[in-house]
Amino acid sequence: MPPWPQCLLQPTLTTARRATAFSRTTCLSSIPASPAYEQGQHEEEPSLVVVGGGAAGVYASIRAKTLAPRLNVAVVEKGRFLSKVKISGGGRCNVTNGHHIEPMGLARNYPRGDKELRGSFFTTHGPQDTMRWFTDHGVDLKTEDDGRVFPVTDNSASVVDCLLNEARRLGVSLQAGKAVSSASVAQDGKFVLKVEKRTSDFVDYINANYVLVATGSSQQGYSIAAQLGHSIIAPVPSLFTFKIADKRLADLAGVTFPIVKAKLKLDGVQKSVPELTQTGPMLVTHWGLSGPVVLRLSAWGARELHQCNYQGKLVVDFVPDIHIEDVKRILFQYKDQHAKHKVNNTFPTEFGLVKRFWRFLLEQESLNGDTHWASMPNNHLNAIALRLKQWMFEIVGKGQFKDEFVTAGGVPISEVSLGTMESKKQPNLFFAGEVLNVDGVTGGFNFQNAWTGGYIAGTSVGTLASTSNLSEQQSCLQL
Ligand SMILES: Cc1cc2nc3c(=O)[nH]c(=O)nc-3n(C[C@H](O)[C@H](O)[C@H](O)COP(=O)(O)OP(=O)(O)OC[C@H]3O[C@@H](n4cnc5c(N)ncnc54)[C@H](O)[C@@H]3O)c2cc1C
Repeated sequence: MPPWPQCLLQPTLTTARRATAFSRTTCLSSIPASPAYEQGQHEEEPSLVVVGGGAAGVYASIRAKTLAPRLNVAVVEKGRFLSKVKISGGGRCNVTNGHHIEPMGLARNYPRGDKELRGSFFTTHGPQDTMRWFTDHGVDLKTEDDGRVFPVTDNSASVVDCLLNEARRLGVSLQAGKAVSSASVAQDGKFVLKVEKRTSDFVDYINANYVLVATGSSQQGYSIAAQLGHSIIAPVPSLFTFKIADKRLADLAGVTFPIVKAKLKLDGVQKSVPELTQTGPMLVTHWGLSGPVVLRLSAWGARELHQCNYQGKLVVDFVPDIHIEDVKRILFQYKDQHAKHKVNNTFPTEFGLVKRFWRFLLEQESLNGDTHWASMPNNHLNAIALRLKQWMFEIVGKGQFKDEFVTAGGVPISEVSLGTMESKKQPNLFFAGEVLNVDGVTGGFNFQNAWTGGYIAGTSVGTLASTSNLSEQQSCLQL
């Protein structure tokens, strides 16, 4: 633990004093409900410092302050508060998912966390609780057909304003434009956080009884966690599209397949991972493949794809509900029944294909579209059936999905008690949100992780603080 670093403080700055909110010496002094810190008075240290003003941090601060109104709570945010919430969901903010209410099913949407999050995590505060919280605080929500939940305004500002107004109303000190650059623990067990401003020489040190690290995927957040004794699972991107080598695919850009079954095959990945096969909608883009199926595969295979430098194979079954033999039978039947029709214009509706894709298939077989079904060679029919059932695409890189991504990796879940979000390495240290090695597929699951983790961490600190406050008051009375 470094000595109390007075010498590093800028002369113009008020030196932050030790956090005393719950020590015996303060039992006769009053602790302001609204921290003076924000007004620059520094009369009392915030006792909970939340590092990171994203979804997890702000939600946690509100919860802690609600449970323990006398607790000094400050959220230190290096950029703008809730900036990801603002841009999320294309500016609409996909708050949570309304189709996966039950914890087991919900947890399956987290490639990192699917086993650990099956327990009490979502039971404590799941999507329904999140929805209720926002509705109770004036944000009306709607659930779309695919389960994604948005504010009825279709504007993420509703969510941002609600959270910030509530935090301010409760007296949470919101410190924007300041980054926590390092953290340590003093001999008395309190945290010492170094706070810097990017835009000036500002350096300050603040003490805290409790610290919540909710820094998302920021490198600085990982290094704070490491300084406080945690290991970090190397971060890699998740939720991306696949770049495909086949230039001919560009002809199909914009075509959507309502349901395909796609299997990701990666060199060196020997074990059969059931999640590396996904069924659902797929979209062809100018550079490759996208849509829910591809995004889910990118998430489940995030680490392996990173290892393979985003090279691999994708085997797509375009008619997953029809057996290969039935596909052949349907094609041969069609040939018999539509002998006089041109293959370009008419094809079996059972496959649910769009005309552009059917013509694309014919081109792959070098078939003239003006050919009549009667003269369609049987080997070509077999080849088309095979392509429909297992078309192999070469993945050559990763693309971006509407700028949306999430990071796999961070603080291992095993180093945190999920019932409290407290560190198993350092008492009174908490984690929530994407800083942990938890990430979900698209659909509102990543925010749900942030809300749930934030809520649990806020509950823990709020409860600890009010309990400790009570016992102090009791010991004061006895003196
Ligand atoms: C473009 C985009 C769209 C998305 N859309 C959705 C969506 O619609 N639905 C969904 O569920 N998920 C979505 N996600 C994912 C979701 O935004 C994240 O999973 C979620 O924001 C994580 O919340 P968090 O609070 O853990 O981290 P963040 O929201 O990343 O917040 C962390 C905060 O900590 C701050 N910080 C970091 N280090 C420090 C430091 N040292 N000192 C002070 N502050 C620090 C950062 O500036 C940041 O504001 C989207 C992601 C992106 C990039």
